Amino acid sequence: MNPGAHTLFVNYNQEARNPEMLAARKIARTYNAKHHEAAIYQHEAEVEHAYADTKGIVPMRNCLLISMASIVGKNVFGQSSVNVIIGAQHGDDADFSDCRPSFINKMNEIAQSFGVSVEAPLINKTRSEIVRMAEQYDMERPFMRDTWSCYRGNSQGGPCGVCLSCQQ
Ligand SMILES: [Zn+2]
Repeated sequence: MNPGAHTLFVNYNQEARNPEMLAARKIARTYNAKHHEAAIYQHEAEVEHAYADTKGIVPMRNCLLISMASIVGKNVFGQSSVNVIIGAQHGDDADFSDCRPSFINKMNEIAQSFGVSVEAPLINKTRSEIVRMAEQYDMERPFMRDTWSCYRGNSQGGPCGVCLSCQQ
């Protein structure tokens, strides 16, 4: 689809890391994007899922993800400009301060000095608007079935139905 597109999955010991990783790999394959994976080491024996609170909020997570995507992008593209695209959406705004336009704008301002732009093209769209857009633009590819939004997952390998993301 886009020979210049790259995807990045980051394992930061999030509960849904396995289904997220599989979804990221599948989407990269479907859209012929070069896929990258990174992991942040955490001693799992000491604290399980320590980065998230009970609502699934990981403080400054998007700062970390944007920074890692910038590093990977500059490593791949060198002196060329790099656009980091993050999927923050309007429904995240209330609980996740790092999904607000003001946060993305500040990250973009910082990244510009490194030749990186940060964009969140869905930031003013609700999840239902995003689903409608995907259906409108992507009817022939089952993109939405390949994505993963749940923070937890259930024992049958599906979404939990109760986390903040599932409730949206
Ligand atoms: Zn869920």
